[in-house]
Amino acid sequence: MRDRTLIKRFFNHLFLFLMNKKEELDIIAGEVSKCALCPLSKSRTNTVPGSGDPDADILFVGEAPGEKEDLAGIPFCGAAGKFLDEMLASIGLTREKVFILNTVKCRPPGNRDPEDTEKEACKSYLNRQLEIIKPKLIVCLGRHSCNTFIPAAGGISKLHGKAVKRPNGQVYFALYHPAAALHNGGLRGTLMDDFKKVPAVLKKIKEQETKGNIKPDNDDKPIQTKLI
Ligand code: SF4
Repeated sequence: MRDRTLIKRFFNHLFLFLMNKKEELDIIAGEVSKCALCPLSKSRTNTVPGSGDPDADILFVGEAPGEKEDLAGIPFCGAAGKFLDEMLASIGLTREKVFILNTVKCRPPGNRDPEDTEKEACKSYLNRQLEIIKPKLIVCLGRHSCNTFIPAAGGISKLHGKAVKRPNGQVYFALYHPAAALHNGGLRGTLMDDFKKVPAVLKKIKEQETKGNIKPDNDDKPIQTKLI
């Protein structure tokens, strides 16, 4: 009996080892589609696990799906998504060349903020996605996304347009949320200017990697952050 369990475990590990990133992400998307770990499962139409290039250097993280995303099962496909597409084009990218997801995979009713308990329930999916994609740069869209990844670095009004490197070497770049810029015209120009800094931040990360300045340690203390 024990031998059979060990053999089964061996083949499970072998199967996981042989899978490519897309297959691993598809497995997570399948789990998400059946997930009932938090109350958002009751009101959703579709889950929105995320989409894009599994080998992308840049990963964008918003907060939660909105109405259009809930209906389509695709992240950032409404007006804010169209604006995001325009900004990606302004730096020579498309959504197929990056990865886009949210901190929670189901729409909060009426587009309210997700509760901390809902974010916590959904966190393991997000962490597994990040572990598979291993982006060089995580772009936090809006204050909620910033609070999730770089809570000690300051508010979005202070942080936007800046890159923060955490002790584990992961670099984050803070931007206003495209929806916030659509509602507040004053933020639109700021967001577009900040967005244009993304290629330079990625270039700097690659240069630092070449020089061996990114430490692959596990000292993942969220308190200690520094701007690169
Ligand atoms: S938001 Fe996340 S944890 Fe909650 S039901 Fe959806 S997939 Fe599950």
